[in-house]
Amino acid sequence: MTDRIHEFLRNRREDGPCLVLDLDVVRDNYTAFARAWPDTRVFYAVKANPDPQILDLLARLGSSFDTASVNEIELALAAGATADRISYGNTIKKERDIARAYALGVRLFAVDCEAEVEKIARAAPGSKVFCRLLCDNSGAEWPLSRKFGCAPELAPRVLEHAHRLGLVAYGLSFHVGSQQRNPKSWDASLKAAVTIFRELAERGITLQMVNLGGGFPTRYLKEVPAVKTYAQTILRALREHFGNRIPETIIEPGRGMVGNAGIIEAEVVLISKKAADDKLKWVYLDIGKFNGLAETMDEMIRYPIRTPFDDHELEPCVIAGPSCDSVDVLYEREPYLLPVSLEIGCKVLIEGAGAYTTTYSTVGFNGFPPLKSYVI
Ligand SMILES: *Cc1c(COP(=O)(O)O)cnc(C)c1O
Repeated sequence: MTDRIHEFLRNRREDGPCLVLDLDVVRDNYTAFARAWPDTRVFYAVKANPDPQILDLLARLGSSFDTASVNEIELALAAGATADRISYGNTIKKERDIARAYALGVRLFAVDCEAEVEKIARAAPGSKVFCRLLCDNSGAEWPLSRKFGCAPELAPRVLEHAHRLGLVAYGLSFHVGSQQRNPKSWDASLKAAVTIFRELAERGITLQMVNLGGGFPTRYLKEVPAVKTYAQTILRALREHFGNRIPETIIEPGRGMVGNAGIIEAEVVLISKKAADDKLKWVYLDIGKFNGLAETMDEMIRYPIRTPFDDHELEPCVIAGPSCDSVDVLYEREPYLLPVSLEIGCKVLIEGAGAYTTTYSTVGFNGFPPLKSYVI
């Protein structure tokens, strides 16, 4: 909680949950990444929070942008980033969208199969492509599973195909899973990467770049290692595997760039018990899975929730959202400790809410408006 957010909330008059995000924190985060990774380009993963003020600030600070759609490309351009600072990092793109990105000047694309390479060769001739590798996401609190990337054995074929079709076989990427609390998780993919670099070199194709992806965590309930620790550990692994032929590197922080910059103020709507002898209270907030807290899905992300009575006696509670959908329960499998003295009408603060909240909010399920957002 920064003083600026505190001040903003103190003066706020209107109703309903809202995210308040402090740009000074984003600036500090960018600076920490840039310092810890002096020879690596930082591509902010726009999807984490595409607010124009965040993109403006990051563009001014010198960040590049990882985008997933033409809309995100247009947002990054509108923020003042030139097209050479934009990567179209989604491996799943319509050929029409690739053509639009190309027309906007984008020349860096992610692929994970030959069919996607063919689309890019047709719609964005001569561009650079990097091949995304499947990656073991264990240790991540928000794993990205098997949806993106190909097995490392397949990557040389994909990149060779790109080379044959006149594209620049530029490098490799992988994502160790979001909210990755183990800095050593990058090691296995770097080891796979160097093998692919060698194999392609033998076929006369020189890869130049390794995109280390996102995964850098933000602080929720559990302590996380510092940005610097990640940089040191990952760069050490890079040197170990690549020796003195270190490739260009890219990182794509999303959560780590904006997560801790935002706080959601919400309100307790109802507190009840389901039976006279029920040991658990049910606490219903005016925010839930459909208006900002989608990442509580499977109770994966556990947000710190502050109340006015945090020093009082605590008791285990089920926390749920306001909508009429039974999946809109935030924490039940592992009940959440809240003060016994919490009352209906109390304001609560949900910390670490700067990433993956506003755009994960529905347009109005049950008539609850999308999460309001104030960037200050
Ligand atoms: C979502 C995403 C990121 C950002 O991930 P975080 O875990 O939020 O840092 C980076 N790169 C790609 C390709 C992504 O899809």
